[in-house]
Amino acid sequence: MHSKIIVALDGHSSCGKSTMAKWLSKQVGYIYVDTGAMYRAVTLFALRNKFITPEGIDEAGLKAALKDVTISFKLDEETKLPLTCLNGEVVEHEIRLMEVSNNVSPIAALPFVREVLTAQQQQMGKEKGIVMDGRDIGTAVFPNAELKIFVTASAEVRAQRRYDELIGKGEKDVNFEEILKNVQERDYIDSHREVNPLRQAEDALVLDNSNMTKDEQNQWLLDKFNERIEKLRN
Ligand code: C5P
Repeated sequence: MHSKIIVALDGHSSCGKSTMAKWLSKQVGYIYVDTGAMYRAVTLFALRNKFITPEGIDEAGLKAALKDVTISFKLDEETKLPLTCLNGEVVEHEIRLMEVSNNVSPIAALPFVREVLTAQQQQMGKEKGIVMDGRDIGTAVFPNAELKIFVTASAEVRAQRRYDELIGKGEKDVNFEEILKNVQERDYIDSHREVNPLRQAEDALVLDNSNMTKDEQNQWLLDKFNERIEKLRN
């Protein structure tokens, strides 16, 4: 039995990180944490409580209210995958809707939001044996992670995947151009924010999966995991 490691998966929006991360965590029996879901849950909270208005974000109001917000994960009995909960309510579906996607990057750019969520994420990974996906896991949350992966694909490929996923879920009101615009806007905001922007860690392995199937990318990830474990053993 090898000692457990931390796997940090970062990259652009909708590039298949979470699909790979979920798959790997099941294969190797690690805990999976989707940090994007945590930023989405805070965004849903902000929308519901009118801290996001057409005039902008009520930062002081959100900051004060955030103290009473709990974000947690509950295991789905059937799929064995984590469901995101906001103050105990399962919001897995709500946090994936366009309204949340359109507002999440400005919320994720707020330093006090990042501070709270980063601390929670570090706590979750204390025992290692975790696969965490996000934007700043290998750079800010776990700069010492044993395996860091940076995933990317062209914006068009990513928008198409997101489109297919929403259609597959039965969403009726989906528009490819709108999704592409959202993907590009999030890339820009995520890469240009002041606190912990999306960037590749120097020691990350890069995977451009534009032309890869799910099986190929999963296998690639498992190989990298096994190589890392093997190296740590020697
Ligand atoms: O991964 P997902 O696309 O669900 O993430 C939603 C948003 O949350 C991202 O566009 C980004 O703005 C923010 N995020 C972040 N840092 C993370 C994970 C997500 O800023 N570690």
